[in-house]
Amino acid sequence: MANVKALLFDLDGVLVSTEKNHFIAWCETARTLGISFSKEDNEALKGVNRVDSLKQILKLGNKTLSSEAFESFLVFKNKIYLDSISTLSEADLLPGVHALLRQAQSMGVKIGLGSSSKNAPMILDRLGVKRFFDVVIDGNGVTYPKPHPEVFLNGAKALGLDPSECLVFEDALSGVTAAKEGGFLSIGVGNPLLQNVADVYLNNLTEFRLEAYV
Ligand SMILES: [Mg+2]
Repeated sequence: MANVKALLFDLDGVLVSTEKNHFIAWCETARTLGISFSKEDNEALKGVNRVDSLKQILKLGNKTLSSEAFESFLVFKNKIYLDSISTLSEADLLPGVHALLRQAQSMGVKIGLGSSSKNAPMILDRLGVKRFFDVVIDGNGVTYPKPHPEVFLNGAKALGLDPSECLVFEDALSGVTAAKEGGFLSIGVGNPLLQNVADVYLNNLTEFRLEAYV
């Protein structure tokens, strides 16, 4: 496939791994709610936004909350998470990320972010890579979470491109599904479960050859 004009990246698990930070924060939230929460439970929250993640945890414990309490637990989780990621730096970028961003920029290939995280702009800033991004679509800019393709469609639209001109890099099944639904070529990264699902699979971004797509 040639003629690629933009790369659209998911954030978590593709550019950086804040999985353990989310896990710590959800564990603490679940513990406070009196709900037991395992690593496997956490796996099911990959690529799921904060509201739906809390709903799933409540379901695990057969609990319901008033809307006020629900809101306050969302804030609680986010505070623990933000505290734990406040020390992120360029050193936390996953292998191959920095080189690929630099290469894409030098070749005139646009770069976008399509993440369900509302903290995405702050995390890009901490990682020192915000300057590479032509467009950032985060959890504040979408109505429908992945696997709905909205976040990537909005990214392509903001760049004035057709989905067929963009590659989507994802580590979660919901994200690969979103990419495919939207008409994008999907590149699965670092999650063996995507090996037979994504159009192309890479262990990490060092394996990606941009020259083959432009
Ligand atoms: Mg992800």
